[in-house]
Amino acid sequence: MTNSPEERRMLIGGQWVEAADGATFETVDPATERVLATVPWGRGADVDRAVRAAREAFEPGSPWRKMPPSARGRIIHKIGDLILEHRDELALLESKDNGKPVSFAGFADVPMAADTFHYMSGWATKIEGNTIPMSSASPGRFLSFTQREPLGVVAQIVPWNYPLLMAAWKLAPALAAGCTIVLKPAEQTPLTALRLGELIQEAGVPDGVVNIVTGDGSTGAALVAHPDVDKIAFTGSTEVGKEIIRASADNVKKVTLELGGKSPNVVYADADLEKAIAKSAEAIFFNQGETCFAGSRLYVERSVHDEVVAGLKAAAEQITVGAGTEPATVMGPLVSAEHLDRVMEYVESGVAEGATLCTGGRRVGDKGYFMAPTIFTGTKPHMRIVAEEIFGPVLVVLPFDSLDEIVAIEKDNPYGLAAGVFTRDIDKAFTTASAMRAGTVFVNTWNTVDAALPFGGYKQSGWGRELGHAVLENYLETKSVIAELGR
Ligand code: NAD
Repeated sequence: MTNSPEERRMLIGGQWVEAADGATFETVDPATERVLATVPWGRGADVDRAVRAAREAFEPGSPWRKMPPSARGRIIHKIGDLILEHRDELALLESKDNGKPVSFAGFADVPMAADTFHYMSGWATKIEGNTIPMSSASPGRFLSFTQREPLGVVAQIVPWNYPLLMAAWKLAPALAAGCTIVLKPAEQTPLTALRLGELIQEAGVPDGVVNIVTGDGSTGAALVAHPDVDKIAFTGSTEVGKEIIRASADNVKKVTLELGGKSPNVVYADADLEKAIAKSAEAIFFNQGETCFAGSRLYVERSVHDEVVAGLKAAAEQITVGAGTEPATVMGPLVSAEHLDRVMEYVESGVAEGATLCTGGRRVGDKGYFMAPTIFTGTKPHMRIVAEEIFGPVLVVLPFDSLDEIVAIEKDNPYGLAAGVFTRDIDKAFTTASAMRAGTVFVNTWNTVDAALPFGGYKQSGWGRELGHAVLENYLETKSVIAELGR
């Protein structure tokens, strides 16, 4: 990619097209503030065109519906292979569009996206129903069984923090289930999803099965409102998730949601403190803190509070902040000027509410959206920095004396995406894990997510699960077939 803005198109019905009205928006490199590309701004007419293409590709007798599951699986696997073949290119594009370090995109985002397609490809041939004897009839009178069918036309709306990976988490299982899709990437980061669209075509996915419409929240809202969309799969903020639930009511669309988080991380005094400090720093600062399951609320047992805080402060101050494309960078810029302003506003609120700024809390440089890794101590549960999702590199630390105290505070946590515990005591580890109302609990680790393991939220962190075979439920219907036999 050169420094001059490029013009990108979106994918509808197998064609790379402009918006019907020619509207575009710009995507910006958050490290340099330069425009990377102009991208079509899909509106109602484009959404309608994409949904029609997806519906046509879903019609009985279409190439996709006639394709044997093994062939579908091979195509999905090929997408994973192509992602790996283009690993460096995709990592660089992701780094430029989102800001994240290119090395991290190369060892995390891109291979994990490939792994999601590889893992899901195997499920295409393993979608099965059950033979279920009826409870109310004599044995043998009826033959009754279930069959699983693809749900239909699915709209998938994804955020900007792991643009390629979030697209993979959505597309791979929907393809395995045999659905057709309209994907809407985030307006801040559409470029890797568009490149993925090219690889999807190269892998042999028939036209219209995957459509990619670029645009902002209004484009997403048009998809949610479209009467011929059977299901919405959304990843993003809890606020927009709630809007989607309301807007889907009119034609009772199926909805699954992966929403925000404020994930508690508990460090006991008996933990391997060196590891606990390193992992707790990683839990919040990896990906600039722009991770839905970031360990953003840290509980430290009082007797080791000062030692852990000192370790975290040192770890935060050692982080090299810079452009994602620089090899030494550990933390890139935040995704956009608006987001940086939002995170800095939280920092100001923390100071105003009386928390102690232990380190960071400031912008870095005057070009690009960089900020220093930030830690607050002396925090109280009611403070906004403790209560709300910040979605940036801001850690709040609370001392604790007992698990009961943590459980009492966490009762008011509206989120339940992840939690973590660091201890050498197996009993404490699993007692704490079972006390946490969260979809994932990390024990002596963090940031370990795998295509085979279900991922998702309790409480206001979402509906349904991504990944594992659990995700297939999001994209399948169950049909009971009951046949009365001759006599
Ligand atoms: P966002 O909700 O503003 O946007 C997410 C997507 O929704 C974007 O594509 C956006 O264009 C679209 N959108 C916005 N308004 C819409 C509307 N009214 N109707 C339909 N679509 C609309 O979120 P964001 O700021 O881009 O992302 C950050 C949030 O995402 C955080 O809250 C984070 O925790 C969450 N997130 C959750 C997970 C998870 O798996 N649970 C993963 C990543 C991010």
